[in-house]
Amino acid sequence: MIGIYGGTFDPVHYGHLRTALEVSECFSLDELRLIPCSRPPHRAAPMATAQKRLQMLRLAVTNDPVFVIDKRELTREGPSYMVDTLESIREEVPEVPLLLFIGADGFRHLTCWFQWERLFDFAHIVVMSRPGAKYNASKENNFLKNRCTDSISELKIKPGGSLFFQNVTPLDISATQIRQIIASNRNPEFLLPDSVVEFIRTNKLYLSPK
Ligand code: ATP
Repeated sequence: MIGIYGGTFDPVHYGHLRTALEVSECFSLDELRLIPCSRPPHRAAPMATAQKRLQMLRLAVTNDPVFVIDKRELTREGPSYMVDTLESIREEVPEVPLLLFIGADGFRHLTCWFQWERLFDFAHIVVMSRPGAKYNASKENNFLKNRCTDSISELKIKPGGSLFFQNVTPLDISATQIRQIIASNRNPEFLLPDSVVEFIRTNKLYLSPK
């Protein structure tokens, strides 16, 4: 199975990295694609440039061959719609089950995503727990309710179409919090890899709140 983990990664932190590692082990993934978005459609533009966010991601994932950085959203024009990303990956791997990982905070807004129902034409969605975010959107929405499964083997036998909830170690870390720490001259160490902290310092990133 191939996992897809999209994000702004502004900057990448241990909340991303630890959950990525846990889900790659839990689902025995052959590959987990980390996909930095260029222009997020549903939120403010990232503070760091796409190139710098990509460089930070590269520094963070040097030693695990399961993690693959996928640059397709950075080279595509227009807003970074996940449905376009999944469609293009599906063209490359016609039969393989694809698991799209979304944190519980992002999942709460899933039904606002561009052509969100079509995501299931290309992949399963796996919602990862996140401190402070409750995922009950599926209870209110029949389309989602009908797709819920608690069987990993079901995910393995179909290329996509199901919804699965996965608990991961709760790490209350966010990129927003890290940017705020840096902007207020405090030390962000131990929330993200040292190599990324070093890069942020060298490039003087996130020094102002906006
Ligand atoms: P920001 O604070 O700027 O909104 P973020 O920390 O949420 O950023 P993103 O790059 O937007 O990071 O997140 C990418 C994906 O990783 C999303 O699906 C998000 O829910 C998930 N994610 C990020 N941090 C965690 C965490 N600590 N635990 C679980 N999932 C997380």
